[in-house]
Amino acid sequence: KSIQIALDGPAAAGKSTIAKIVAEKLGYIYIDTGAMYRAITLKALNAGIDLASSERTGQLLRNTQIDLQPSEEGQLVFLDGKNVTEDIRSQAVTSAVSLIASHESVRERMVELQQQLASGRGVVMDGRDIGTHVLPNAELKVYMSATVEERARRRYEENTERGFDTPLADLQKEIAARDKMDSEREVSPLRQADDALYLDTTNLTIEQAAADILKLAEE
Ligand code: C5P
Repeated sequence: KSIQIALDGPAAAGKSTIAKIVAEKLGYIYIDTGAMYRAITLKALNAGIDLASSERTGQLLRNTQIDLQPSEEGQLVFLDGKNVTEDIRSQAVTSAVSLIASHESVRERMVELQQQLASGRGVVMDGRDIGTHVLPNAELKVYMSATVEERARRRYEENTERGFDTPLADLQKEIAARDKMDSEREVSPLRQADDALYLDTTNLTIEQAAADILKLAEE
């Protein structure tokens, strides 16, 4: 029987890497909800609208098509038909995304889209509010975290592979700032659901964390 797995936690905790492995092993689809917030942020930046306006950004989202497509190299993200998989990882998007994601108008629509994507199928969905709001009935909920130092170090390594060279200290500051905004916003803030299991990945390899979750999924 297929189940729904909700994976939440702060920035750069390894959620997407682990979610991808777990989904592949179980033959489920993987949905990176952060990529959806990043896509609308990219569009808002390009359109030059007021990012602080819930009304303007919500309106922009209503006229936007966001598609997620699995591929060999991982999930591809399309914004109004254009492949933006790389573009949504830019520093400009990363710095602005938490503000966009704090708007109720944006979250309402995103949650709706995410619920549609997950409906009636085996899914591993990662984000900030999946266990608490998007999939409150998910059979397995995991809240993953690691120290901010370790998360910054991981992001630094990932960035190096991508050819970015943001200093480690800057990454740590950016991650801490985003966590603060994500956990202090009014609408569905970053929280561990009451029925979620806590997984500290500070001293775990990706393979170990994925194996832990797979074991829980098979119970
Ligand atoms: O997962 P990722 O770090 O790519 O997410 C980018 C941003 O999108 C987060 O910092 C957060 O502001 C927002 N987000 C959210 N709710 C989700 C997923 C992401 O608010 N379910």
